[in-house]
Amino acid sequence: MVDNQACLSRSEQNIIDLNKWQQITDLIAELFGSASGTIVQLRENEFNVVVASQNKDNFLSRNDTWSWDIHSFCRKIIETKQQLTVEHAEMDACWKQSPLVAEGQIRSYCGLPIFWPCGELFGTLCIIDTKETEHSPALIKLLEQFCRLITADLKMLRDYQEIRDLALTDELTGIHNRRGLSFLGEQRIKEARRAKQTIGIVYLDIDHLKRINDRHGHQIGDQCIITLANVLTVNGRESDIIARMGGDEFIIMTSFSDEYDYDHHLEKLSLRILDCYKTAVSEYDTDEITSISYGHRTFNYASMTFLEEMIEETDQLMYRNKNSKR
Ligand code: GH3
Ligand code: MG
Repeated sequence: MVDNQACLSRSEQNIIDLNKWQQITDLIAELFGSASGTIVQLRENEFNVVVASQNKDNFLSRNDTWSWDIHSFCRKIIETKQQLTVEHAEMDACWKQSPLVAEGQIRSYCGLPIFWPCGELFGTLCIIDTKETEHSPALIKLLEQFCRLITADLKMLRDYQEIRDLALTDELTGIHNRRGLSFLGEQRIKEARRAKQTIGIVYLDIDHLKRINDRHGHQIGDQCIITLANVLTVNGRESDIIARMGGDEFIIMTSFSDEYDYDHHLEKLSLRILDCYKTAVSEYDTDEITSISYGHRTFNYASMTFLEEMIEETDQLMYRNKNSKR
């Protein structure tokens, strides 16, 4: 998954080709004859260098960071949402005291804001130099064009995320669908193998949903499904993967890292879910809406197989639970 809070250069996204951004910064450093051409991303309280021109004079490199608190040129652009041009920093009342100038080697700066397609600020495109510079208007226009191209790439990334989220989400309940579980679950198994964690799976199926539909209408049936999804979300941990497998079947996938009686924990979790579900659906006032069946299993480093197999094994336990009631 792409984390918008992670610096683009460190996230695992492969939608934006950062080599293209690299070429942009190399080119502007060359055109401006400057020490540094850099694309900077703002996230929370710091600035991150996403790409920096590869000329030997550049004192910045990819993944460098600095705090928002520093009186920096980038911060000024973010605060004003406007281009900033400083041709002679040592002579500029605003900048001569800045540590970047007074204690550092920066003597000129030209930067523009880069926006996410929604209008939020992404960061800055900067030309930084160790000598005074007159920035040519034509070159600044070129920077504006580059900023637009970068925003177009960011739009592609956001569109991709939106479409992917839609494809992985169940429409009725808003939790993950089977595809979402596959996508995230496979990743989770890899992480668990690497960190020698144990995976726990709980499989749940509503009892007699067909009868509920027949007697009380499809809407009440839908309501039962939505209720169970909500109960799972409330009772699961934030890191759990919660998915609707289709119809009235659901899964919670969780991972444990500390010494713990995992099976006991999953049993307690299942009973809590059952209890919450029964209480929540009691308001629909239908005798049949009474229960769910569940099964749970843990898989340690040695017993972890493929996700589909692990789900199938847990599903069998759910059926055993269902049959035991009949
Ligand atoms: P069991 O107790 O054995 O679980 O029987 P069941 O009636 O719940 O049937 P089963 O789990 O085998 O199949 C799920 C049924 O749930 C099939 C269908 O009638 C109903 N169902 C599936 N998807 C939906 C849905 O989106 N909305 C509603 N209202 N009902 C659904
Ligand atoms: Mg069922």
